[in-house]
Amino acid sequence: MKKVAVIYCGRYVDSGYGCPGEWRCLKAAALGEGKFDQPSNVVFWIRCECPGKTVIPNTKMAMKLSEIKPDVIHFSSCLTGSFPPCPYYKPEDMAEKIKETFGIEVILGTHEYK
Ligand code: SF4
Repeated sequence: MKKVAVIYCGRYVDSGYGCPGEWRCLKAAALGEGKFDQPSNVVFWIRCECPGKTVIPNTKMAMKLSEIKPDVIHFSSCLTGSFPPCPYYKPEDMAEKIKETFGIEVILGTHEYK
């Protein structure tokens, strides 16, 4: 099964608006829906904290502790599509940085449930 990691927006989740914590990201991963091209095994979650400086080091640490390198990393739909958008970075730029740093492809988004 494909191994995936998810990086989500802590600010959005803490707002309690649109994501009460039922983790539709997990549902989409399990069923291979939305931005997941097949049923996928989520090997770790990374919470982004403003202003985003923890994303790279925490991803590195998660891979070290889990001893698993994911096949692909997804940015959650709240990270890529919330309004107002992230004031600190463009998801595309952070995705490029992750790809450069770890050699792992990043997909923008997880689910498309309403
Ligand atoms: S830096 Fe941007 S993506 Fe990260 S928690 Fe803050 S608002 Fe969300």
